[in-house]
Order: sequence, then C-alpha cells, then structure tokens
Amino acid sequence: MKKPLLYRSVNTRTHGVRHGSCRAYRHERHTKSEKDTLSNHGSMHSNQRHGFDYTPLFRFLLSKVGRPWDQVFSEANPRLDRSEPVFWMVALHESDKKESVRTDESTYYSGLWVDEAGLLQKVNPQLTHEQMKPFCNCCTHTFNGVVFPQGPPLKR
Ligand SMILES: [Zn+2]
Repeated sequence: MKKPLLYRSVNTRTHGVRHGSCRAYRHERHTKSEKDTLSNHGSMHSNQRHGFDYTPLFRFLLSKVGRPWDQVFSEANPRLDRSEPVFWMVALHESDKKESVRTDESTYYSGLWVDEAGLLQKVNPQLTHEQMKPFCNCCTHTFNGVVFPQGPPLKR
C-alpha cells in the first residue's frame, strides 16, 4: 500500500494574495532579524512559488519525536518531491538548532534535532504555544498547528 505524500499542491494565486497581505512580514524580510527565521533559506520561498505546502511533513516529523532519525528519514523521503524541506525543521548541526522555526509568515513549529543516540528530539521540549509571541496583528499565528494568543507586535 502506498503511503500518502507529505506535501500537497496549493493554489498559488490564492496563496499569494494571502501571503502578500502581511505588511509586517514584508518589512521583516528586509531587516537583520531575518537570521532568526527561516526566511534566510531563500529556497523556502521558492517552494511557495512552486505551490507546495509541506504542512503534512511538519506534522509527520512532530509525530516522530523520540524515534530513530534514520528510520524517520527513510520513511519520509520517498513521500516527498525532495528532501530539503525536512531540514527546515530538523537541524543536523549544533549551530543550526532553533527552538522554533517559521515555515510561513505566521506558521511556527518546534525546531527539531537529532541527539547523540540518533533519536529525533525537540530542541526545546518545554516550548508551548502560550510562550510564542505573534509576529504581527494582522495574521492568525499557529505553533505546531495550535493558534497562539494575539498581542502587540514585537518591538523592533
Ligand atoms: Zn500579518
């Protein structure tokens, strides 16, 4: 039996309209805090232009925390068009570890890494959606798929 793919096509025109509606995000992309986000991975945005949504992959990876990384990766890889999006969320090097990663202007997930025993782990297992700060007031923000409270925009 073939397992479902871990990505899906999106309507790029509809997506683009929503995506371009956040002024704070467009501003942010040109500031130096960019390095704290995934937006320094230029490829992430090319993925959005191509119209693929990797939400199923990010949920799959979250569900595999605590499992052997080699098995997780070999299960995920055949279900993807390319392996790169896996590493937006999973850090293979100590210096790449992040508590949270942003996959879209208002979509965050736990940052993951592979521990010494070869198991997939959250970088900060204590981080919950309650601790997340919204990036702007105009979008609904989620962390691991859970909406987190709106508040004043971050000071810059
Ligand atoms: Zn916004």
